[in-house]
Amino acid sequence: MRVYIIKDDLMIPSVLPTYNRAPLTFVKGEGTWLTEADGRRFLDLGAGIAVNALGHAHPSLVAALTDQAQNLWHVSNLYQIPQQQALADRLVAATFADTVFFTNSGTEACELAVKMARKYWYDKGQPDRTDIITFDGSFHGRSSAGIAAAGSEKMTAGFGPLLPGFVHLPWNDHDATVAAITDTTAAILIEPIQGEGGIRVLPDQCLKGLRDLCDQHGILLILDEVQCGMGRTGKLFAHEWAGIEPDIMMVAKGIGGGFPLGAVLATEDAASGMTAGTHGSTYGGNPLGCAVGCAVMDHISEPTFLAGVNRKAGLLGQKLEGLIAADPDVFTTVQGAGLMLGLKCVPTNIDVVNAGYDNQIITVPAADNVIRLLPPLTISDAEIDEALTRLDQTARQIQSR
Ligand SMILES: *Cc1c(COP(=O)(O)O)cnc(C)c1O
Repeated sequence: MRVYIIKDDLMIPSVLPTYNRAPLTFVKGEGTWLTEADGRRFLDLGAGIAVNALGHAHPSLVAALTDQAQNLWHVSNLYQIPQQQALADRLVAATFADTVFFTNSGTEACELAVKMARKYWYDKGQPDRTDIITFDGSFHGRSSAGIAAAGSEKMTAGFGPLLPGFVHLPWNDHDATVAAITDTTAAILIEPIQGEGGIRVLPDQCLKGLRDLCDQHGILLILDEVQCGMGRTGKLFAHEWAGIEPDIMMVAKGIGGGFPLGAVLATEDAASGMTAGTHGSTYGGNPLGCAVGCAVMDHISEPTFLAGVNRKAGLLGQKLEGLIAADPDVFTTVQGAGLMLGLKCVPTNIDVVNAGYDNQIITVPAADNVIRLLPPLTISDAEIDEALTRLDQTARQIQSR
């Protein structure tokens, strides 16, 4: 066996220290449960930040992945990839979209969404229409385009010069949006529900208002459904609640159920500039990811599955109202939609998440002092009860300090 030399004169860890990691090491996952190396079982209301939409080690996904792994892992996009075709066909059949490009992540989906919007106007003979309107508190990934799009100091400081062409507006400010549209505006980019931004829901009326505004000015509406899509809100995609359709949509997280997979969905018109050679990816749309993606879609797009998400969301929401009433010194409000919920905390959300770990329940912090509850969509009623018990214990532990 090779002996690795430990360079103990170094201060930097061998893994670049860009994360604040909890001292937890999970070694196995099953449904809504994670097992820590010491044997403790944690109830997972984080799902890898809305990634494990069908829970951990779902038998259909394990079967899809292992069957594909035994046949073919990777071929270049120089060739036909039937699994990619099958997943694209499913997405086109189930959504507004006419065409799909596959990526490995949400931030890569953002890259293409931005390129697609600019190319659209370039090809229409308006190459100066390059600006994309975005909103405070948004998150679109960590690439150069992603951080420039979101624009927050926290993500951009030190990484300039930033990609130009983003106009940042206050969240949900219709008048500011109307005023910001000029003859250089290419598109509006928004999350129907902000995830990292603290589970802030854009009211249906506002999403409709943005659609109308885009139609009036002929500009493109780009929705980032990386976190709120794939059944999370009880519809396949969150914008369906508002009865509107985007021109371009970014998807990732839940679509691979834990396998790195993302996608950009678009109408034929919005995608018209993206001809052969204009974009590409080595791994995007690989057979492994798309085989798993097909299995995920087959479950989540089922009306009975989505009805189940809505029923459980009602149950969880109602119980969380009870929790707030019982523990007002810890939790003040619940916000969100479907199984994408945020609890506003009185102590710091980090303290609450950490106290949750002591009670073997996993939640995820977000902006606005919120803890996010993003359980697997497959969570059972009994697990919802168990989650409430553990959240209540967590609150009582904090109060007893
Ligand atoms: C997570 C997330 C992204 C970035 O996705 P990655 O896969 O981490 O690159 C973009 N937009 C939203 C809304 C997200 O939640």
